[in-house]
Amino acid sequence: APRVLSGIQPTADSFHLGNYLGALRQWVALQDSHEAFYCVVDLHAITVKYEAEALRRRSKVSAAQLLAMGVDPERSTLFLQSHVPEHAELAWVLGCLTGFGEAGRMTQFKDKSSKQGADATTVGLFTYPILQAADILLYTPTPGPGERVFHVPVGEDQRQHLELTRTLAQRFNHRFGDTFVAPEAYIPQGAAKITDLQEPTAKMSKSASSPQGIIDVLEEPGPMRKKIMRAVTDTGSEVTFDEENKAGVSNLLRIFAALDGSSIEDLERRYEGSGYGQFKKDLAEAVLDTFGPIRERTQKLLDDEAELERILARGAERASAVAAGTMDVVRERVGFVGRG
Ligand code: ATP
Ligand code: MG
Repeated sequence: APRVLSGIQPTADSFHLGNYLGALRQWVALQDSHEAFYCVVDLHAITVKYEAEALRRRSKVSAAQLLAMGVDPERSTLFLQSHVPEHAELAWVLGCLTGFGEAGRMTQFKDKSSKQGADATTVGLFTYPILQAADILLYTPTPGPGERVFHVPVGEDQRQHLELTRTLAQRFNHRFGDTFVAPEAYIPQGAAKITDLQEPTAKMSKSASSPQGIIDVLEEPGPMRKKIMRAVTDTGSEVTFDEENKAGVSNLLRIFAALDGSSIEDLERRYEGSGYGQFKKDLAEAVLDTFGPIRERTQKLLDDEAELERILARGAERASAVAAGTMDVVRERVGFVGRG
């Protein structure tokens, strides 16, 4: 089976609807056709301001949510990035193959750093895409007989980072001999970019959105309904898709369609003349139908911490076996002396 790798940052106490519809739902589906490696990228999470105890809690909650959504630890490798030190090691090597200007062109860095100001911005945030490249390339099988396709499911917001990963793979291969398969970006069918409920032209984001702008997977039904009812729309009353003039309503339509499998046209017809209120009420129920069971399963998983730790230890062991093999080849190719 082709391999797939993807990661998510433990930067909040819950994942959000954008993570779910743009990425995590596809992680679950891809297990049927792929050998999957799914990583909670805690090394990435320390590139921005954080607290140690919060990070530890969030890493566990993240893993529990992935399991609750259907990531199956029997079929797939689920692990924490910091359990596999080869991620940081390969990132160093790749960083030494990356131009300073090249890294400076990453738009996510420009966005995130301009919001924080230069003194609050870490060098780690700058080199973030290089660590992401290492995450991916550690698990790319070396080309040759039995070569396998390698997929990385990402949202639109990660396309540029994946392009850098491809460039670094090719640069490494060119300089040191064929080592990595350049991964294919795979933006799965039906993966939707979800925007902030209060600021519908900005992406819904764990770290950048206000609480009112985010729909959390683990949110209680009451507050969740309220938030959706208060989502920014416009002064009109027609439930129609118009990205330019009705960004808020268009975002809600995209969410509704992704959750209940209807087309946007179907929904426009269904809510013709009914105003925003009924539409939002039904949307809230659709969200709760999806997230209610996930919330309950997550809670159960968190109640048995020993079992969760056991699952993560096994995932780390499987990931390490692959990552160590890749790093042996990399160390040799770049000219480091073997330990004998
Ligand atoms: P942060 O604000 O800390 O960067 P995030 O919400 O962007 O958090 P990530 O952990 O960076 O989440 O990304 C996890 C996955 O979710 C990625 O594959 C990313 O493409 C996807 N994703 C993030 N936000 C959205 C969104 N608003 N719509 C669709 N997909 C998204
Ligand atoms: Mg992000």
